[in-house]
Amino acid sequence: MRRPMVAGNWKMHGTRASVAELINGLNNQALPADVDVAVFPSFLHLGQVVDGFLGKAIAMGAQDCAVQPLEGALTGEVAASQLHDAGCSLVLVGHSERRSLLGEGDEVITRKFAAAQSSGLHVVFCVGESLAEREAGRTLEVVAAQISAVIDTLGVEVFATAIIAYEPVWAIGTGLTASPEQAQYVHAAIRGQLALQSPELAGKTRILYGGSVKAASAAELFGMPDIDGGLVGGASLNADEFGAICRAAGS
Ligand code: PEP
Repeated sequence: MRRPMVAGNWKMHGTRASVAELINGLNNQALPADVDVAVFPSFLHLGQVVDGFLGKAIAMGAQDCAVQPLEGALTGEVAASQLHDAGCSLVLVGHSERRSLLGEGDEVITRKFAAAQSSGLHVVFCVGESLAEREAGRTLEVVAAQISAVIDTLGVEVFATAIIAYEPVWAIGTGLTASPEQAQYVHAAIRGQLALQSPELAGKTRILYGGSVKAASAAELFGMPDIDGGLVGGASLNADEFGAICRAAGS
């Protein structure tokens, strides 16, 4: 019912040479036709990626956008409208590295969410708890609050075209992966939260898992009923590994 998605977050990695190599590697991968595949390069490499994947069914997203939707006087930022013009169809909003290392809070995140949608981008909205929050038994409360911050300002309907990525902070880049059962528990709670306002929308919204996903762990995670694919960081920099993760999401 929900089409799976696998998205690669390249983070602040890559040179022109290494990106060319990765594009070449991905162009040689057999990707499943029933999975949406996307990559999120740095702003610098968006043009190279658009050109590199001509004719290949790989969508492109940006890792961030400005709070202001349209181009204008905002030094150093990139507007969602510019990203759309550059060939992006998606954008990450609320990634934990930006929340924790760059101090992005709910207000900024919600503004970026709105800016992205007003420019026609699909938001991949990242939520997740820290290790301390998990150990304090606060996982569901933290994740629900992150989602409520958007719903309370923009309305639940914004999730009709957005994708949610549940990314426990303790699993990002650490090699620790949530077990399929741990992830499923949170995914089901997220879907339940959406269903309180719109059961129909909740049934359609894709919820990806992110946090040290590897080819070896992907199939079991993606086999859970509320896990609709993955947001992949480190492993997405290896074309063979990323290709295998994409295939694990296919039927
Ligand atoms: C991420 O940064 O979104 C992520 C999931 O990273 P990793 O797969 O490296 O944990």
